[in-house]
Amino acid sequence: MPSKRKEHAEFMEISQEYIPGVLEPVFRFWGFSRKTYRDAVGSGCAIIGESLPFALPHYGTLHYSPVVADLISTEAHGQIQLRNSWLLIDESLRPEGEPLAWLEIRKGLRYPIITRTSENDFHFWFDVDRTIQFVQNEAHLRHAAPLYVKLGVNPHRLPRHIRDLAFHSMHALRRLRGSIGSIGQGLAAVDMWRGLIGQIIETQCDATPTPFWPNGKQYACAASHDLDTAACFLKPKLLEQFRSIDEDCGMLTAWMVVTANMAPGRAALDDLHDHGHEIGFHGTNHDHRLAFASPAEMARRVAEVKTLVSYYGSTGFRSPAYLRTPNLYRAIDDVLAYDMSMHDAIEGVCRPSPANEGCGTCHPFILHGTDLLEIPTTVPEDWQFDLMGVTDCDNIVSSQLESIARIKLRGGVANALTHTEPEPTTKPFMIQAYRHLMTHLANDEQAWLATPGEINRWWRMRSASIEMLWTHGVAFAPVSASAHDILRPQKPRHSTTLT
Ligand SMILES: [Zn+2]
Repeated sequence: MPSKRKEHAEFMEISQEYIPGVLEPVFRFWGFSRKTYRDAVGSGCAIIGESLPFALPHYGTLHYSPVVADLISTEAHGQIQLRNSWLLIDESLRPEGEPLAWLEIRKGLRYPIITRTSENDFHFWFDVDRTIQFVQNEAHLRHAAPLYVKLGVNPHRLPRHIRDLAFHSMHALRRLRGSIGSIGQGLAAVDMWRGLIGQIIETQCDATPTPFWPNGKQYACAASHDLDTAACFLKPKLLEQFRSIDEDCGMLTAWMVVTANMAPGRAALDDLHDHGHEIGFHGTNHDHRLAFASPAEMARRVAEVKTLVSYYGSTGFRSPAYLRTPNLYRAIDDVLAYDMSMHDAIEGVCRPSPANEGCGTCHPFILHGTDLLEIPTTVPEDWQFDLMGVTDCDNIVSSQLESIARIKLRGGVANALTHTEPEPTTKPFMIQAYRHLMTHLANDEQAWLATPGEINRWWRMRSASIEMLWTHGVAFAPVSASAHDILRPQKPRHSTTLT
């Protein structure tokens, strides 16, 4: 498959991309001013980073001292096994100062990656900017089609027990290989590096970052439903039970539809849209082949979203079974604004998507080579619990809330996904868990309840404001009491006939 190799090589080049100033992307992420950046980075400063053109990806076990553990209090385990969290290191460097964190590349080979000077300055001995870019874009993944896709098997055509057997076998294999942990144990490496640097700047430089979310909210919450089949249109109770929970909790949500299945659902989708819910794209069908299709086939499939865009003003996408490639992102980039096909962390993966996945952050970011905003899916999901055999409502909710508590501390997006399918989501304990989860979010005064489309618009506005702060020294003010109302989408007229 030469084209796949080429695609992978192209993505690996991320680590060699030109990045303007050392650590500048991290300062922009936090929305610190250029003055703070100049004061903090350079000689006689709080933080020193390296731009390393010859750095290569390494992973292993990350060990860190109590100083670092204090700064990243939410990750304070003392050591972390890094799998997808590559660090770009130049081994010819000879780090100086008191070591605060090490990467154990292999037994007995420890490489200091953060040190502290006698002036209490923190020195990062790996390429933070490129490492973040690399991990965030999952540049280590080879984006190969799973075997069943290569064999042309559509899992939705298999009897449920065969599908379960296949998924459980795959899960057992990944567990044996040590490539998965338990649900909710996610390591968000990008968040860890950015969080650590943000803490150092706040404490050493007394600087204030730009708030992440409107109206002083600490984190954002969005919920979406993937409509893999036409089941919820043929049995409207399936759809209604989710919709009534959403609306009882005052949440507008995103309904991600497979265009081939939507004919019987037109009235239901129109009604959802008329009530302010979002309609998004979940592929033309759910055969798991979209991400690996030929350019012509992919273009033909992606073109089908244009009807959704003109009819419902759709801006969002999640790939069937989360299967994604840079080619797919480029194709979607022409027609849509945001994507939710990635997860934040590698751990807890129990699905047909790549085992080694995870963008390492619960914050939105622009995907490499596109103008698509990635809003990763971050809350443990219904069918993960189903495949792990968790059938207790309290266990499900506590695992989800544990993960949301971490996201809240980081100020990220709690992005929850459920499936309106007869199996497994609509089992009574799953519905009960969903109601608990949504009630919890609705009652959290520090949560900004938004649709993914609103998060997309907000994040772009915040980034534009930070860009102004950076270039002109003054930000405009996207944070206002009415921000939530302003961000509500104007309902487009139904200007075209949906065929
Ligand atoms: Zn799906």
